[in-house]
Amino acid sequence: MKTTLFALIVLLATPFALKAQESFHKFAPLPYAYDALEPNIDKMTMEIHYDRHHRAYYNNFLTAIKGTELEKTPMEAIFGNIGSASPAIRNNGGGYWNHEMFWNCMKPNGGGAPTGKLGEAINSAFGSFDNFKKQFAEAGTKRFGSGWVWLVKGSDGKLFITSTANQDNPLMNTEEKRGTPIFCLDVWEHAYYLKYQNKRADYITAFWNVVNWDYVQKRFEGGK
Ligand code: MN
Repeated sequence: MKTTLFALIVLLATPFALKAQESFHKFAPLPYAYDALEPNIDKMTMEIHYDRHHRAYYNNFLTAIKGTELEKTPMEAIFGNIGSASPAIRNNGGGYWNHEMFWNCMKPNGGGAPTGKLGEAINSAFGSFDNFKKQFAEAGTKRFGSGWVWLVKGSDGKLFITSTANQDNPLMNTEEKRGTPIFCLDVWEHAYYLKYQNKRADYITAFWNVVNWDYVQKRFEGGK
């Protein structure tokens, strides 16, 4: 009887004990299976990208902030003062946060065009959805080396496209064009090289087929 009671207590307490060890900065599961975006984004690329690249950024970020107040500081606040942080925090913190948003910007059977207020805002800022896609893709193909393309909501509520180098993002105080990122595309070679080799433009064309516009709409309306 005593053993049973002890086992029961251990069983009940385990989730709390595990929770206490969890980091303030979470490593979220991929919101779909590795092969869910096939044939647009292949399974092996997704697996390596999420489980090796993304995880390494996360682990290295935690190491870089160990023992500092940043262990409990929201990412947005860290980025707002990133100019005074070490390169390890900037590169790995950016890599961690950017990728999590990127996974959410995609979904199986995605694509199509944004509707509602987001659709209206895109039309108003770029003339049409097609023009937006053209400008966004251009920003991606023109980014020299490694980086990201972003659709950003400015402090005036208007949308604009920007591109950042390495793992930087538009929340960082080192960026000239800052605002709230609502949509992003990873144009590092590791995001497409296995399937598309040097053809970054083809990768971007395929990317439109998997965009999760519901998520972008949610971010546009102030959600996360
Ligand atoms: Mn990446």
